[in-house]
Amino acid sequence: DSLEFPREKRQKGLFLQHIRTTQEHDYQDRTPSYHGCCTIGNTPIIRLNNTSNRAQIELLAKTEFSNPGGSIKDRVAQRVLDNLKAANKIKDSVTTLVIPSSGNLVISLALLAPQNGCYKVIGLIPERTSEDRIHLLKSLGVEIVRTLIEAHADSAESQFSIAKKIATDLPDAILVDEFADGANVQVHSQETAEEILIQCEGRLDVLVVGVETGGTITGIARTLKARIPGLKVVGVEPEHSSVQDGVSRAGAWKVEDIGGNFTPSILDKSLIDEWIQVSDQDSYSTARQLIREEGIFCGPSSGSVVAAALRYIQTLPKDGNQKPRILTILNDTARNYSSTLLSDDWLLEHDLMDETMAKSVAYHRH
Ligand code: PMP
Repeated sequence: DSLEFPREKRQKGLFLQHIRTTQEHDYQDRTPSYHGCCTIGNTPIIRLNNTSNRAQIELLAKTEFSNPGGSIKDRVAQRVLDNLKAANKIKDSVTTLVIPSSGNLVISLALLAPQNGCYKVIGLIPERTSEDRIHLLKSLGVEIVRTLIEAHADSAESQFSIAKKIATDLPDAILVDEFADGANVQVHSQETAEEILIQCEGRLDVLVVGVETGGTITGIARTLKARIPGLKVVGVEPEHSSVQDGVSRAGAWKVEDIGGNFTPSILDKSLIDEWIQVSDQDSYSTARQLIREEGIFCGPSSGSVVAAALRYIQTLPKDGNQKPRILTILNDTARNYSSTLLSDDWLLEHDLMDETMAKSVAYHRH
């Protein structure tokens, strides 16, 4: 049951090879670099029929895990490279990209870097990021420096400080800082949000988004709030994270890719009506529920977002005559978490299964 994207808007984006298709006329509004087999962006929106716990609520999900690199960050990577190329900043086969990120942006940039003339990619990746993604990054030829989770952004040991130092010391290196780069907001306000407006035909009541850099929520909410009066925007972070209040605390959580120990500069908090913090157990159990009950192969942060949406739904009046439409953004794929989210043993070891899930797993094991 998918909300179909109009055919004329389908074909755009850039995939790994610039393969021309026979439908050249579809791309008239695009620059030549966007011609291709078109798999970045234009992600489907589907209904979470088995998850919505109330019949009178329409719970939707934008499936960003269907981007070729497995996450929403393909969109950001493409925009960052387009901007660098437009500013003539890439020296063909010489430039190195230096990226402090929890992982997905590095994957996306590493996928796109070779065809965009970059020589090398260096990722500064916190220890929270799972070994599965580290293997994937290594296979893409990325040089990896692991950084301490607890290092505050301003400290010398943080992924940002080390990235800055590498980018300064290394000749022809460019620092890509998704926490400060406006491209991370622009691409969502100009593309992701426009897709949502078309797919939802302009009708949406609540938007629920996980937050780390704040690029996704700021970009999408900026465009949608200007066009949909009354839209409520809910930001999601892990319990113990400080994105919302900026108060530095020694927060420890397992869910990768959302939360942090500071408020990023690109996050526009004035666009967010409500924040919901989600526990690790709720996040992982909900992600596994989505995999099993909806056939949606999403990662842990998607579990956090849907768990938050379900909690928000509980606060809505039960007898409203309008059927509220709630859109969640599911940012990455479960495939990158085979030794964590997909491992029953790992979940049990870290007490990340809720009671329902633990019972169901125990049943299937015996
Ligand atoms: N979920 C996943 C899987 C991500 O990769 C990211 C980006 N780190 C987020 C959520 C948060 O998005 P943003 O950085 O745009 O706030």
